[in-house]
Amino acid sequence: MIPSPFPNLHIINHPLIQHKLTQMRKENTPKHAFRQLLREIALLMGYEVTRDLPLKIEPISTPLASMEAPVIAGPNPAIIPILRAGLGMADGLLELMPEADEGHIGMYRDPVTKKPVEYLVKLPPTSGRMFFLVDPMLATGNSAVAAVDTLISHGVDPSKIKFMALVAAPEGVQVFNEKYSHIPIYAAALDERLNEKAYILPGLGDAGDRLFGTL
Ligand code: URA
Repeated sequence: MIPSPFPNLHIINHPLIQHKLTQMRKENTPKHAFRQLLREIALLMGYEVTRDLPLKIEPISTPLASMEAPVIAGPNPAIIPILRAGLGMADGLLELMPEADEGHIGMYRDPVTKKPVEYLVKLPPTSGRMFFLVDPMLATGNSAVAAVDTLISHGVDPSKIKFMALVAAPEGVQVFNEKYSHIPIYAAALDERLNEKAYILPGLGDAGDRLFGTL
């Protein structure tokens, strides 16, 4: 981790993550590589993001002896990608936590107002579990805030939410923190700024289009 200007923003600077992010940023990286890199980075980030999952001790038998061994306590975590681009990160987290449930929040950015418009919410049961909300680009922060609003309005305990992005813009973190400064954000990079179309600079372009090959 490197120091970040926002107390709740954790930048994960592991060399493998940084190297893979650079490959993703390159404009000529093809779709299949982009997809695979996003999945791999999410899996690697997952190691840090899940660091404080609670453990409990349970009795097991190895082929040689009985022992008391640690296992993850409590209900399985929930992974909630913000559609579309969040799907690419959710795959990596699911590889790490195959028993997690996956819900979806569908949102698109109105091209004129730049505000998020919600079109789908499908969540697993909320009580007592961790919610990992994922979206590769924390740009304006508006959809991240709207997605957290949605989780809370469906009964998720705010102290159980973590937001995971690939690249964050300072403007987006600021907007997020005006409402949810106590919710941790994990990202692989904090970039310079947004451009006039609310894309992150230098960024990596439109993550959804690059993942799915759309225009
Ligand atoms: N969404 C993207 O996919 N890219 C950006 O730079 C900003 C928002």
